[in-house]
Amino acid sequence: MKITKFKGDITTEIANSFKNSIAIDTEATGLQIPERDKLSLIQICDENDNVYIVQPNKNHYKAPNLVSILENKKILKIGHFLRFDKNALEFFLKCKIKNIFDTKIASKIVRTYTDSHGLKNLVQEFCNKSLDKRQGSSDWNKDINELTDRQLEYAANDVVYLHKIKFELEKMLVREGRMDIFNSCLAFLDSRVELDQNGFKFDIFEH
Ligand code: MN
Repeated sequence: MKITKFKGDITTEIANSFKNSIAIDTEATGLQIPERDKLSLIQICDENDNVYIVQPNKNHYKAPNLVSILENKKILKIGHFLRFDKNALEFFLKCKIKNIFDTKIASKIVRTYTDSHGLKNLVQEFCNKSLDKRQGSSDWNKDINELTDRQLEYAANDVVYLHKIKFELEKMLVREGRMDIFNSCLAFLDSRVELDQNGFKFDIFEH
């Protein structure tokens, strides 16, 4: 794993290096986006374990190279609980994310033998690694050059296993015949995020 830091945006050269898929995660000042909290970091991992950590410009959030990747239908964006990241990225970077794979939704649909669908659980099961989540609640709004190596490594670890996890979950979805229902759930994520942004945080299907 190689970590590269950026302020504002990735370079066009790096944007052009992405081929089939990227893994993506974000860190924010808290969980209430957009009403209180702000997008702090965007982590991307390519298919060769190169990790890019971007600190957006908090004055204007302009990141055209990132946006071009997020909106590119040919590049799959793999994320864990994209309901949060999609909301944050679309609101702050003013874009519409196309072509996604959510490992948490996939896990809930196919790993029916457990109630544990956290990233830590998936990393343990599919990568046989124990993810240290202790740096999770960090001040991610610090200047990116002031973040410690441990913090950067933590942020990178949230994306570096996602390709492998997606590969394994996809096999299970096919095996169990649940690919169609998974895809329908992904299609609904647009509406789910729209509901979140309009204050409907609860489950609208619940009695
Ligand atoms: Mn994270």
